[in-house]
Formats: sequence, C-alpha cells, structure tokens
Amino acid sequence: MNPARSWPGTSYYQVEAGDERANRGALDEDGECDIAIIGGGLAGISTAVSLMEQGVDSVRVLEADQPGAGASGRNGGFVFAGYSLANDMLFKQLGREQATLMHGWTRDAVRRVRERINRYSIDCQVNDAGVLLADWFHDDRRLRAFQGRMLKQLDFRLDFVERETLRSLVDSPRYGAGLMEPGSFHFHPLRHIRGLATQLQQSGIHVHSPSPVTRISRNERGWRLTSGQFTLQAREVVLTTGGYDRKLWPSLQKALQPIATYVAVTEPLDGLAEQLVPGGIAVYDTRFAFDYFRPLPDGRMLWGGRISVADRSPDAIRRLLKRDLRKVFVDMKGARFEQAWGGWMSYARHEMPLLGRSPEGLWYGLAFGGHGMATTTLAGEVLAEAICGNGARLEAFARWQPLWAGGMLGRGVVQSKYWWLQLKDALRAHLSVGRDRK
Ligand SMILES: Cc1cc2nc3c(=O)[nH]c(=O)nc-3n(C[C@H](O)[C@H](O)[C@H](O)COP(=O)(O)OP(=O)(O)OC[C@H]3O[C@@H](n4cnc5c(N)ncnc54)[C@H](O)[C@@H]3O)c2cc1C
Repeated sequence: MNPARSWPGTSYYQVEAGDERANRGALDEDGECDIAIIGGGLAGISTAVSLMEQGVDSVRVLEADQPGAGASGRNGGFVFAGYSLANDMLFKQLGREQATLMHGWTRDAVRRVRERINRYSIDCQVNDAGVLLADWFHDDRRLRAFQGRMLKQLDFRLDFVERETLRSLVDSPRYGAGLMEPGSFHFHPLRHIRGLATQLQQSGIHVHSPSPVTRISRNERGWRLTSGQFTLQAREVVLTTGGYDRKLWPSLQKALQPIATYVAVTEPLDGLAEQLVPGGIAVYDTRFAFDYFRPLPDGRMLWGGRISVADRSPDAIRRLLKRDLRKVFVDMKGARFEQAWGGWMSYARHEMPLLGRSPEGLWYGLAFGGHGMATTTLAGEVLAEAICGNGARLEAFARWQPLWAGGMLGRGVVQSKYWWLQLKDALRAHLSVGRDRK
C-alpha cells in the first residue's frame, strides 16, 4: 500500500470495536499456497470465504494494514442492492433480460451477507429497519415513475412510502415521499469484516496482517509475492486492493480512480437520534450528491456524504458535514461530531466493478465504488467460482474492461463532473420549492 493514501484520524468503528492488532500476524516466513489474495477488504475477504465454503483451504490473504482498514471497515454500513452504475444505465446497456439477471445477483448478495452473519454468528449490530431512498425534490410523479421503471426493467421491487409516512420515519421537512428497498439493512462494517476474517482463521485460512505486498512476479510455478522480508509462492493470485494501491500491477490499476467520501459520527444525543429517526432506518436521498445517515445503537447519529478527490483532515470533514446535517435536522445544530473520517472508493470509468483475469493470468476484483457491501460479496462468489473452474458469471463482467482512468486529468474530470451535478441538484431543488408552493 502507498501509505500516503491511507487516512488520518480514527473512525468511530475502530473506537467502538477496539484495536485487534494483536489477533492476527504478519507473514513472517517464506511459504506456499494455492491461492493468494492481496488486500483484506471485503472483496478479498469475501473471495477467501467463498473459496472456503467451496472446500478450498490452501488460501492466504495478505493485508497491508488490518482487515477492513480500507473502505470496507469505514463505510456508511448500508447493505443494499445494485452497482455504482445507475440502474437505468444498466438496463440501457444490457436490455431487460441480462440487466434483471445481473441486478438480481446483487439482491442475492444482500441475502448472502445476512446469511453469513447468521451462519458465523457475527455480532455486527444488524439493523433490519432497512434502507430508504428519500426524495429531496418533493416530486412524487418522478419518484413513482422511477419505482415503475425499476420493476419493469429489472424486476426490482421498491415500496412507495407516502410523504406522511416518511415524515413519521424521518422528522425533517426536507423530504417528500420515499422508496424502501425490501431486504436491505444496515450494520457495523468493521465488526462484520473482522468476524469474517476470524472465521477464515478458525477454518485454517491465514489472514496475514499487517503484510503489505510490495512486488508480484510471474514464474514457472505461478506467482511469487514479496511482503517485507518474506516471499510467498502461489499458484493463483487475486488482486483486491481497492482504491488503496495503484502500483502493484499498473496495467490493471491504471483503470482505477480513487475517490473519497466522508463520514462523521455525533456524540451520544440523549434520545434525539431516536426521536428524529424513530424507526431506526438508514436514509439516503435522490440527489446525485446525496447525504446518507443512520442512527447508531448507542444513541449517536452517523452522517455521511460528499464525493471528492481530496483527502481532507478530520476537522475539515466535520465542518463540511455539519453544514449538510443542519440542512436536514435543524434540531441537531448543537450536536458535536466526535469522529470524522474519510475513505477511498475505487471507480472505473464505466462505474461497473472490474472482475476478471488479466492476460498474464492475474485474477482481479476492483472498482466497487460507493456500492460495495453487496457487490464485493458477489465478486467473491464470482471469482471463487471461476477459480474453481466455472467462469460463466465472470464472463458476464467481461464487457466492462479495465480502461485507463485518465490519471490526474481523470481526477480533475471527476471532480468537475461532481460539482456540475451538485449544481444541477441545487437548481432542481430550487425549482421544486417553487412547485411545492404553487
Ligand atoms: C466513507 C465510505 C462510505 C461508504 N459507504 C458505503 C455504504 O454505506 N454501503 C456500501 O455498499 N458501500 C459503501 N462504500 C463503498 C464500499 O465501502 C467499498 O466499495 C468497498 O468496501 C470496497 O471494498 P474493497 O475490498 O474493494 O476495498 P477496500 O475495503 O478499500 O480494501 C482494499 C484493501 O487492500 C489493502 N491493500 C492495498 N494495497 C495493498 C498491498 N499492496 N498489499 C496488501 N494489501 C493491500 C488495503 O489496506 C485495504 O484494506 C463506502 C465507501 C466509503 C469510503
């Protein structure tokens, strides 16, 4: 990992779940295995779990820091269906049959995340109240049209939540009606990934951490990986380094654009969080540049938002998110953010995950963007199937190739696009206020 890319400050999740550095170990001797996985985010850990569930046990995960140190242990904790690519675009690109199939895989993956939590008794604060898409623009007609399209195009059912009902779920005049995704939930992502990593270790699969891989090279027996003073010989290698490395295999990783998003958690609010979000749902909204928030079991509110190419300091994130929070919950203007942090997501130009095998034979699972909890779980299954000889589902992802993301210029384009869409959001919101008053 390039340490310059890691994030300063501690997340609420780390504070809440405690340090577990002592529980795992670095790679401290030369070794061999059938399959080495580089990167202990949810993509890497899920691939190892899927292999384990298929009976493959000669697997090792090498993680630069600790499992979940990247995006997978510091995100909003929303577990819901879909890819980063908009559902309408998925339909446009694939047509009804294939889009329904591939979107369905992400819904299955939501169920798989939950199944594994139950099967391995992972204590990760699952909240079944679900995930709500709240309408910022007060435009019921458009929201209903979207609901209809999702059903027609993808066989994806979303339940309409009338304005009054929504108001009883979220005490803020900011929103109109909403759409609830059945089966969605929210949880503590760091506890979740640690639980999976522990299950791997209990099943005899090593999760080496901290073990940054500094070099990989092809040889006659497969691959040679270097981490610190030690080498690992592996028959197959899977690269799942997210937005945290772009140097290990540049021909692939040049297709990644690391994009930041921010989260902050308030101090305990003495019942205010439960009062403002009485059902305990997780909420995001219909703007391109949406906020996301959810109450936590210990009376705090988690608040997230923004997309940026900049790695801001915790204090700068606090200031930025506080402004956003006040627009939704005026009553929370006095609340203090105890922790604030950011994380890198990785995006490909086409906004779909990169799943495949390079011409040199390197497997990869990258670029899950802001929709990673279900899709990394799906990726783990698809990669494990392919490694075990069934590449049918992997083939479906071949149309989204690792195209060059444009380097620094690409980052500028991403930031400008975000600002432009933010401006469009603001204009639309302005017009919707006018419409509501008529
Ligand atoms: C703030 C934030 C909020 C988000 N909210 C949500 C949400 O609510 N719901 C949702 O579905 N998605 C969300 N996402 C997106 C989701 O978290 C990511 O898509 C997903 O976690 C990506 O998983 P990953 O395994 O690909 O990458 P990561 O979790 O980033 O893992 C990559 C790992 O690779 C390791 N690594 C890198 N280089 C090396 C190396 N050379 N050697 C060894 N290890 C290496 C890193 O240390 C890291 O642990 C959010 C993301 C962020 C940042």
